[in-house]
Amino acid sequence: MAHAEIVTEPHQYGLGTYSARAGSIALLPVPVPIPFIREGLPKWKWPKYPRSYTTIEGAVETRLLKLIRDYQGVTFFSEGSPATITITKYERDPAARHACIQHYGDCCYVCGFSFGKAYGETAQGYIHVHHLREIASAKKEHKVDPIRDLRPVCPNCHAVIHRRKPPLSIKEVKALLREAHH
Ligand SMILES: [Zn+2]
Ligand SMILES: [Zn+2]
Repeated sequence: MAHAEIVTEPHQYGLGTYSARAGSIALLPVPVPIPFIREGLPKWKWPKYPRSYTTIEGAVETRLLKLIRDYQGVTFFSEGSPATITITKYERDPAARHACIQHYGDCCYVCGFSFGKAYGETAQGYIHVHHLREIASAKKEHKVDPIRDLRPVCPNCHAVIHRRKPPLSIKEVKALLREAHH
């Protein structure tokens, strides 16, 4: 997540797309989880259906800035409200991540670990999402199919998957687990 001030008027960029120059871009020291925003701003639709960008104004903006500030635990933004804040790259594709978890659930696809079961409500729903098709290799943006390309995995299994380049398959890590437990 980053915070920036929009420094020019929006201008037409492509068909139906508008763009504006941003200045004073600062990465937030602590990423703010979407569920935290959703709870604090229940009437705002974006956290329910996150996209990679959005424009926020008015009361939502004021409240959002306060929520982000509270979460950081420090006064991070300069005084004086910016005209617009832009949220970029919370996830590579939060909608795809969401769809993956909707389909496969939030237990690890390799070992079945559930953060909610192990740690209770505080950790409920926490899970990594692994891309089966490595993005680094494909320069062109391909459309991610959340069910074909993504799997929910716990951070341990995710780390093991990426111990090798190219990454181990889900099957291989499952086999490792089985072998190790004998
Ligand atoms: Zn796992
Ligand atoms: Zn991965």
